[in-house]
Amino acid sequence: MRKQLIIELQKDTRITDAQIFEAFDKVPRHFFLDLAFTEQAYTNMAFQIGAGQTISHPITVAFQTQLLNLKRGEKVLEIGTGSGFQTCILCSMGAKVFSIERQKELFMKVKHIIDHFGFTPRIMFGDGYKGMPTFAPFDKIIVTCGAPDIPEALLQQLKVGGIMVIPVGEGAEQIMKRITKISETEVTEESFGTFKFVPMLERTAK
Ligand code: SAH
Repeated sequence: MRKQLIIELQKDTRITDAQIFEAFDKVPRHFFLDLAFTEQAYTNMAFQIGAGQTISHPITVAFQTQLLNLKRGEKVLEIGTGSGFQTCILCSMGAKVFSIERQKELFMKVKHIIDHFGFTPRIMFGDGYKGMPTFAPFDKIIVTCGAPDIPEALLQQLKVGGIMVIPVGEGAEQIMKRITKISETEVTEESFGTFKFVPMLERTAK
């Protein structure tokens, strides 16, 4: 089933980085879902993961990763750890990952799953709007929830030359944006179509 999903992803001409397919092969998605969904884990669908949140569609994970243009050893900040699947894909591609989750329930659950694979990202319970100033600057930032706008703190924590991939929009749908920081004060912005993410919310939940 995992191979079949990879074949599906390979049909999508937007995904060109072969390392993404390798990562999908190494990180079994069914570990990140509740047992009831195991059979469907390799279909191209989003699923509930608790606390009203969802694991992203495989194609969305692959596409956001593609837009990051990731190199081994880069420092990546992820906003919205959720199930930890995207986190592990990034780790598996050799990134040094820092990830923030605002739902306590998901934060507690995800550590065990990630440990299982032997990856060592730094996961923080907190508000992604603030980023992780202590570990900044980052080569890349990936936001996996729908942001009403581009959080200023995150832009500040991005290296010059760095890339942020972020779905932006206030309603149910967002536009996938790639922001490239070309100087301390300037960015370029590209748009890549419509996606549906759970909203990026301020402050931490219980
Ligand atoms: N990358 C995850 C996506 C999960 S959905 C995966 O593949 O499973 C998005 C996640 O963003 C949810 O878990 C939600 O709780 C989290 N989130 C929403 N607002 C946030 C914020 N301000 N800071 C950190 N995480 C946030």
